[in-house]
Amino acid sequence: MQIRNAFDKFAVSFEVFPPKTETGIDNLFYELSLLKKFNPAYVSVTYGAGGSTREKTIDLSMKIKESLSIEPLMHFTCVGNSKSEVAEHLEKVKTLGLTNILALRGDPPAGSADFIPAADGFAYASELIKFIKSKNGFSIAAAGYPEKHPDAPSIEEDIRHLKEKTDAGAEIIITQLFLENDKFLRFRDLCVKEKISVKIIPGIMPVVTLPQIERMVNLSGVILPRKMDADIKNADGDAEKIFQIGVDYASTQVENLMKEGVPGFHFYPLNKARAISEVIENSGILK
Ligand code: FAD
Repeated sequence: MQIRNAFDKFAVSFEVFPPKTETGIDNLFYELSLLKKFNPAYVSVTYGAGGSTREKTIDLSMKIKESLSIEPLMHFTCVGNSKSEVAEHLEKVKTLGLTNILALRGDPPAGSADFIPAADGFAYASELIKFIKSKNGFSIAAAGYPEKHPDAPSIEEDIRHLKEKTDAGAEIIITQLFLENDKFLRFRDLCVKEKISVKIIPGIMPVVTLPQIERMVNLSGVILPRKMDADIKNADGDAEKIFQIGVDYASTQVENLMKEGVPGFHFYPLNKARAISEVIENSGILK
């Protein structure tokens, strides 16, 4: 299946990252076997910062395709890649039958503020998308940011650049996770205003552990919605209560987004099935 058709019917998708060890891979495949019953349109496989997981991303995508018969969506970034290296990568993955790509710019290395393109490489995802498009045979997704990308001076400017990505050949937009639906709905309205006509798939991550919450707040600057913050404080560190608060919050979030006519959901399970399974089942989105 081509990514452009993945949400022709309402569907869900999942994002995973390549584990570092063989045991990690076995565990991931066990978790994916639990998620398979939801008939995901695809499973996307991240590409490590700085291209650190290039081969692992390819291997994991192949294994998902071959042993689970689920379509993989491979992430790929501009980081550290010249045009000829990108061309080589594309040739290789096309030969393997991996033709769905989430094309990204990638982040600057830890400690640097600015993204520096590789020599003879690409400065923005839109340039990478245009290049992939010129190679024919690929179906391309791009990233969108309901709370704006951190580098962008305004959401409006960020969405103008998002339009450059769809004009360059991106056929679907997958969003960064967000906790407040209003932000997604405003983003979607602004995309319509900018004449972006591809499907926009909301990214949902149930936040179910304290370390996960701390990481989001401290590293990504996410502000927890007031009720969720209060409920988590009241849980007083009880791991199971915090898990249920996260699941309940995400279940309500997806139920409300369903009423807004979204074409599907891209879930971030962090390689674990339980929270996502409960969200899908509690919210009834696949009934
Ligand atoms: P771009 O679309 O290039 O945008 C980057 C910034 O540049 C934005 O602020 C944009 O407004 C601005 N911009 C774009 N074009 C122009 C222009 N012409 N002139 C001036 N400014 C411009 N990272 C990984 O390393 N590996 C992954 O697997 C991965 N997966 C992701 C999956 C999803 C669904 C999302 C949402 C993000 C993912 N990321 C991943 C993170 C992503 O690489 C970073 O957020 C990165 O900083 C931006 O990537 P982008 O493709 O959105 O960049």
